[in-house]
Amino acid sequence: MTAVTWISKATDSGARSGLLKTPHGEVRTPAFMPVGTRAAVKAVDTEDLLAVGAEIVLANTYHLMLRPGADLIETLGGLHRFMSWDGPILTDSGGFQIFSLEPEISERGAVFSSIYDGARVELTPENAVRIQEQLGPDIAMVLDVCVGLPAEPEQVESEMRRTLRWAERCLAAHSRSDQSLFGIVQGGVDLDLRAESARETAALGFDGIAIGGLSVGEPADQRNAVLEAAIAELPDDRPRYVMGLGDTEGLLDAIARGADMFDCVIPTRLARHGRALSRNGDFNINRVDLREDEGPIDTECGCLTCRRYSRAYLRHLVRMSELSAHRLLTIHNLTYVLDLFAGARDAIEDGRLDVYVSAARQTRSDGSTLPTPTA
Ligand SMILES: [Zn+2]
Repeated sequence: MTAVTWISKATDSGARSGLLKTPHGEVRTPAFMPVGTRAAVKAVDTEDLLAVGAEIVLANTYHLMLRPGADLIETLGGLHRFMSWDGPILTDSGGFQIFSLEPEISERGAVFSSIYDGARVELTPENAVRIQEQLGPDIAMVLDVCVGLPAEPEQVESEMRRTLRWAERCLAAHSRSDQSLFGIVQGGVDLDLRAESARETAALGFDGIAIGGLSVGEPADQRNAVLEAAIAELPDDRPRYVMGLGDTEGLLDAIARGADMFDCVIPTRLARHGRALSRNGDFNINRVDLREDEGPIDTECGCLTCRRYSRAYLRHLVRMSELSAHRLLTIHNLTYVLDLFAGARDAIEDGRLDVYVSAARQTRSDGSTLPTPTA
């Protein structure tokens, strides 16, 4: 019962490129998944997602189970049909969101208050799976326990073990043959715990394995050490998904260490705050020195926003709180990240990822004193 499979195309040191085959099409990896929290990537629609080259999107179980509810989405034919996206979809299990709400955790599950109306809601490994089977993504995630850092070592260890027990319950509860279930590695920043969690999670036989609980404020070298410790224990023939990582530097670090899938709200959230991601360094479009700048955000970017609109115009839209500013900057920022990934895949296949990564870093640091004069 393997709905999703991953095929290796090329390797370059620790990095790899491949093809994720799902019931709703193929995804080239390393892949970035735009986040559609409430079955919508904020400020853009599914036509925009196709235009920027997104091949898979993520939606949040936690939000959708509360509004509009999994029953309604199931009645309306599942998430793909509901949001009019025919490509692959991954849903998270809600674990990450609910654990920021300080839930009551017991062996049975987690009880928390709905952010919408304060109602008490229970999420157990079994109903997290059932809800995701109702939503119908190609890839569902196990319910895991995220521990906020810093935490006592005993707590990190006990919640890592609870995540393993819950993973087994999720597997036992999962029945949809056209959907894959991915396990999640936990263990904080303890490298031994991470290695053990990765080994034990892999042994359960998931179609893919995620590394959770990162990008919570840990330094980059600590995160990289965790990735190395976990990935060393993961099977070569399964996709590896690093949850919640989305800054350019972190993405390049993780791709180089053999991660295949990523999701993050950073590119879309920054767009709504007027911050443009760029090969030449990220910058705020609302800068006084861009007032008369007729150049695009990024001269090398082929997105709708860069083809048609100047920095000066985008700055004006942001300053006037025009709604189109959110869409146009989101289109650009997603294009930037997806281009970064396309470049990384090509570089891996050509055996020159190290050159690609150092060039990307150099260009970003050289250009970080934007604006570059535009003709
Ligand atoms: Zn652009």
